[in-house]
Amino acid sequence: MAVYDLAVVGVGPGGMATSIAAARQGLNVILFEKREKGRDKYCGGGSTLKTLGVDELDFGFVTEGYGFVIHGEHILVTAIKGHMGMTVRRCDLDKVLMERAESEGVEFKEKTEVVGIKEKNNEIVLMDDRGEKYKSRYLVLATGMEERLILSLGFPPLPRETLGQCWGTEKPYDVNEQVAKWRKEYGITPIWIFMGGVGISYGYFWVFPKKGFMNVGMGVLITEAKRGLHEKGYKAGLE
Ligand SMILES: Cc1cc2nc3c(=O)[nH]c(=O)nc-3n(C[C@H](O)[C@H](O)[C@H](O)COP(=O)(O)OP(=O)(O)OC[C@H]3O[C@@H](n4cnc5c(N)ncnc54)[C@H](O)[C@@H]3O)c2cc1C
Repeated sequence: MAVYDLAVVGVGPGGMATSIAAARQGLNVILFEKREKGRDKYCGGGSTLKTLGVDELDFGFVTEGYGFVIHGEHILVTAIKGHMGMTVRRCDLDKVLMERAESEGVEFKEKTEVVGIKEKNNEIVLMDDRGEKYKSRYLVLATGMEERLILSLGFPPLPRETLGQCWGTEKPYDVNEQVAKWRKEYGITPIWIFMGGVGISYGYFWVFPKKGFMNVGMGVLITEAKRGLHEKGYKAGLE
């Protein structure tokens, strides 16, 4: 059985950035993802051009600032100009990162769930959902919010009271028409964050234009979501 230098589990930005960086240093990397190539993940997809390391991506939507709307007795709209960012759809961004990882020589195993990890003679042995085994010198678990493997290695669970819960949607939308109205009113192409109001406590509602899509959603602390106030807030936010 071949012994890899590094095994990475999860093809989110964490797993792919790790794989690409390691492969560029000459390591022999294997990357596992339980879902298919080009998988989507619900996400606002807001980033900065600096973080993305590009001036533009053909599927990205360039933004120039934030609009914060703070509800209370008054509504305050503040646009912070000059913050160049980009919104992306995660299915597009993650696909490009996956292709980049493969072109750097990373061996990519899609639709392959890692179900077991053991350490033996200073080597890590991973087992997938088909019973195949893989050996590696090092392991990075980049499984996002999925804790099963992390817990199996004896790490503590994430404290529940610090977790959030979100509702959101991303649909085809003529954002250019909407953005033209915002540009007329505020002079920039913003992404929007709505704090408080519409029944939201300890969280916020967002409206992120993307290329040909609109992404709207609401995130709150899980402890607040349990109080059941937020379904009403989400409905009001969508309206
Ligand atoms: C509603 C919402 C809005 C957000 N908006 C933004 C935003 O605007 N800008 C921003 O920068 N961030 C945003 N984020 C955060 C961002 O989505 C996450 O920080 C990011 O996706 C985390 O990346 P990751 O690589 O850690 O994990 P993930 O992207 O979650 O990827 C983990 C991967 O591991 C795979 N996996 C899990 N277990 C296994 C296993 N056993 N075997 C094989 N594969 C496995 C999963 O299928 C998944 O593909 C948002 C998050 C949410 C929920």
